[in-house]
Amino acid sequence: MNANTSRFIKQANLIGGQWVAADSGATIDVMNPATGKAIGTIPKSGKAETARAIEAAAQAFKSWRKTTANERSQKMRKLHDLILANQDALAEILTMEQGKSFTEAKGEVASSAAYILWYAEEARRVYGDVVPSPWADRRIMVTKEPVGVVAAITPWNFPSSMLARKIGPALATGCTVVVKPATQTPYSGLAWGVLCEEAGIPAGVVNILTGSASEIGGELTRNPQVAKLTFTGSTEIGKLLMKQTAGTVKKVSMELGGNAPFIVFDDADLDRAVAGAIAAKFRNSGQTCVCTNRFFVQSKIYSRFVEKFTEAVEQLKVGNGMDSGTQQGPLIDMNAVEKVEEFIADATKKGGRIVTGGKRHALGGSYFEPTVIADAKPRMRFTKEEIFGPVAPVYKFKSEEDVIEQANNTEYGLACYFYTQDLGRAFRVMEGLKYGLVGVNEGLISTVEAPFGGLKESGLGKEGGHQGIEDYLDTKYVCIGGLGL
Ligand code: ADP
Repeated sequence: MNANTSRFIKQANLIGGQWVAADSGATIDVMNPATGKAIGTIPKSGKAETARAIEAAAQAFKSWRKTTANERSQKMRKLHDLILANQDALAEILTMEQGKSFTEAKGEVASSAAYILWYAEEARRVYGDVVPSPWADRRIMVTKEPVGVVAAITPWNFPSSMLARKIGPALATGCTVVVKPATQTPYSGLAWGVLCEEAGIPAGVVNILTGSASEIGGELTRNPQVAKLTFTGSTEIGKLLMKQTAGTVKKVSMELGGNAPFIVFDDADLDRAVAGAIAAKFRNSGQTCVCTNRFFVQSKIYSRFVEKFTEAVEQLKVGNGMDSGTQQGPLIDMNAVEKVEEFIADATKKGGRIVTGGKRHALGGSYFEPTVIADAKPRMRFTKEEIFGPVAPVYKFKSEEDVIEQANNTEYGLACYFYTQDLGRAFRVMEGLKYGLVGVNEGLISTVEAPFGGLKESGLGKEGGHQGIEDYLDTKYVCIGGLGL
């Protein structure tokens, strides 16, 4: 690791511009999933440190909210440039703590920079309204203001870009933030502190805490000084946090789990569908909320798809993310491996056929073989539950109506994908699928310009697009009277 990488590895928390240890001095080890070795430690902060970080954010909000959009935008452009100037160092940290390939990590860091730039641009376009008044002597003005202190809790699968989606709109609108990155991947989160300091963002505007999720989360969701919670993670924890925020009626944005269907119709371009299937399933070793959970393939091309897909899956190179050519790194930890094994055992017991993979990889640790399971059935566990690993179950279907019903038969509604060359079908299916993101003949669709967000129990609110900034703004109606006739 070179000096530029190590300067981003902060083994401390950022509260009100100070890098500090936990009050108790307690720490948590951070592991590299590719080697099983410790990278370093992080503070095990709790309630008291969180309360101080919220207070620091509340104090900083008083002056940060008064800066002009142009001033914030300039600082964010600087932040964007710093991210790109340090792309390799930030990607190396990401690969080390998360496991994904260096190529994917660089892509994620580039996406973080893109979000910051997007919101730097959006900052200057937060418009209000002047509305025709029903009273001759009064005027109606509608203004937008920053909500205040924002709490952000993020997961380990995209430890850099999930924060970009939250820090970006917060900075743009004049909000301040208290961030809690995932315990498995804290250094990519703490690196935001170094970057923000270098970009000249004032002390207290961005605060970062690591440690006990329930203690930090408990304070973030109950402290009345926090105006909004933005969370990306599991539906289970998202629901818990929504309940906790109810006591102080905070605004919430939730990016939760998914159960993405990937539908291949008989008339699809098969090679294109296979390429899309690889991207939509195996990116980040299957550990994304938009990764395909269920492949549905129409009966006439079912066997051909399984055959071609399997050939492509068998080409995937598994290894340490830092080795060149690696396409699939280790899973995040052994719990993830055990969960994937349970899904596979359940499927084989119920008649599923392992076409390739199916077991731990010869590399040991948390490496797992990319797996395809044919003859998937509705009663198998992955029909309802999120796999979050490199396992692709392939179901067979007969008709368009039937597959739309099966695809929608889940409490989730984040991403879905389908492949067809029939224009009428493309529109019917797109309109029939109850999902927040739809890929038509595309397997990778996330981009900062478009609103990312789930329906149903996959979440609330949008990140990116022109919509992404709204959740960070309060709308205020001002009535100006006594103007005379
Ligand atoms: P995943 O299954 O992806 O780890 P989680 O929902 O468990 O998803 O974690 C997402 C984020 O939520 C992480 O930062 C984690 O530490 C945090 N988290 C987990 N439990 C709680 C909790 N009780 N309160 C607040 N945050 C929590």
